[in-house]
Amino acid sequence: MDRWSRELDELDAAGMRRTLRTVDGQGPRAVVDGRDVLLLCSNNYLGLAGHPALLEAAAAATWRYGAGSGASRLVSGTLPPHAQLEERLATFKGSEAALLFNSGFAANTGILQGLFGPDDLIFSDELNHASLIDGCRLSRARSVVYPHRDIQALERLLAAEAPRRKGRWLIVTDGVFSMDGDIAPLVALCELKERFDALLMVDDAHGTGVLGANGRGTAEQLGCLGRIDLQMGTLGKALGCAGAYLAAPHVVINTLINRSRPFIFSTSLPPSVPAAAMAALDIVESSEGARLRADLERNRKFFAGRLHAAGLDLLASATQIVPVLVGEPAPTMAITRRLLDDGIFLQGIRPPTVPEGTCRLRATVMATHDPADLDHAAGLIVAACRKV
Ligand SMILES: *Cc1c(COP(=O)(O)O)cnc(C)c1O
Repeated sequence: MDRWSRELDELDAAGMRRTLRTVDGQGPRAVVDGRDVLLLCSNNYLGLAGHPALLEAAAAATWRYGAGSGASRLVSGTLPPHAQLEERLATFKGSEAALLFNSGFAANTGILQGLFGPDDLIFSDELNHASLIDGCRLSRARSVVYPHRDIQALERLLAAEAPRRKGRWLIVTDGVFSMDGDIAPLVALCELKERFDALLMVDDAHGTGVLGANGRGTAEQLGCLGRIDLQMGTLGKALGCAGAYLAAPHVVINTLINRSRPFIFSTSLPPSVPAAAMAALDIVESSEGARLRADLERNRKFFAGRLHAAGLDLLASATQIVPVLVGEPAPTMAITRRLLDDGIFLQGIRPPTVPEGTCRLRATVMATHDPADLDHAAGLIVAACRKV
């Protein structure tokens, strides 16, 4: 115990200790530490987590099927809502089949562990999500990390490995990068994976529901939906629920049902969750969804434009995730605290979530934000950054 305590003190001294804050409210406003604030760090991008259609679907499924599923999927935990949502997701993504996981973290670790092994080789973007990194480790495949979004570098790495190729090859990338808000060059990645006979996996945690004319994600936006072999996405962000899925060919899904440890050895999601996720997909595919996406895009452009015009460094953000680069941990967290006092809640992000020296404020815009509130928040963020 003493040792952990010392380690926590060291984190504290380095400005790196993390603590929890209780947030009451789904945005655009919430109560944090007893005060009413504008919520600027939720991934509930379309405001669906509090949408009446989702709440009603969840309540109806709870009364019909129970509060919990009772077992893992292969035992008695595949209830009608789980099976219906999987069909629905396969149609949504234009794939043969889909499989639910209890979270995005469980999906990424379980997909990579279930499909790949020591003979295989995984090419992974250096800014991929932690769950993909852990999935690479769990698979026991060799992994080659390529520089962020760098197609030429990846091509050189693929060409260098080609002469001693043994097993399967996978290129894996976030669709929208979770801490930078930039978009993977999926069309160029498709060309490479086809040329080198590799598979392509896209983690679209932040693109699902948000990008593309029908909210099908980054690949729809970039016009390469049918070319992605393994389409992973989450239900806990824009879709406002919890859990995640893989959309892929039958053979992949059937392999995971037999091999993926987080899928096999865990109680399935409560039936309310897939029921609410179907209600979310109904909205995403409707004119209401199109309107929410348009509002989100308007808000993001306005907010990022304000910060950019004031000279802040927003990295290569091209989505609702708007990072404001600060650099070191102490000033980053000082700005977060100051903004909370001003009634704006957004989190400072530090290593190991982002590389050393790139601490940032990670602002996330919602469709339901009022532009006047975003204007006010942008002014306070600029002032706080200048002061600190
Ligand atoms: C949030 C996130 C995950 C994890 O999803 P959860 O459902 O929150 O576990 C995976 N990948 C990316 C890129 C994410 O941003």
